[in-house]
Amino acid sequence: MSYINSLLQLRCPKCRRGKMFSHKPYSFKGISSLNKSCPHCETLFQLEPWFFYGAMYVSYALGVAVAVAVYVLLVLFGFGKSVLTSFLIITGIIILISPYVYQLSKAIWASFFILYDPKKLG
Ligand SMILES: [Zn+2]
Repeated sequence: MSYINSLLQLRCPKCRRGKMFSHKPYSFKGISSLNKSCPHCETLFQLEPWFFYGAMYVSYALGVAVAVAVYVLLVLFGFGKSVLTSFLIITGIIILISPYVYQLSKAIWASFFILYDPKKLG
């Protein structure tokens, strides 16, 4: 599985097989259902206390990227003339994707520190 695919599917950065979260982002049973370790290779995800605070930076960057991309699309398709309309559409989209971005940002942040190890494929 490629790096991008493993991130998008919220997989363990070490083996790219095990799921990082026990629930899907939109299940609402537990958006913050991060597994303590990978169910496949048993790599611990929480490297130190407050490790995932850094994921806020990733989440912020993703939010800005989505907002800019949506705004560019709105302008290209002729809907970007009203600032209020653009703002409401961008806000709505960011709210809709926020559960997924929350988990994705943790997967991206973890992948910065937990490096891929093909030997862990087992
Ligand atoms: Zn793993």
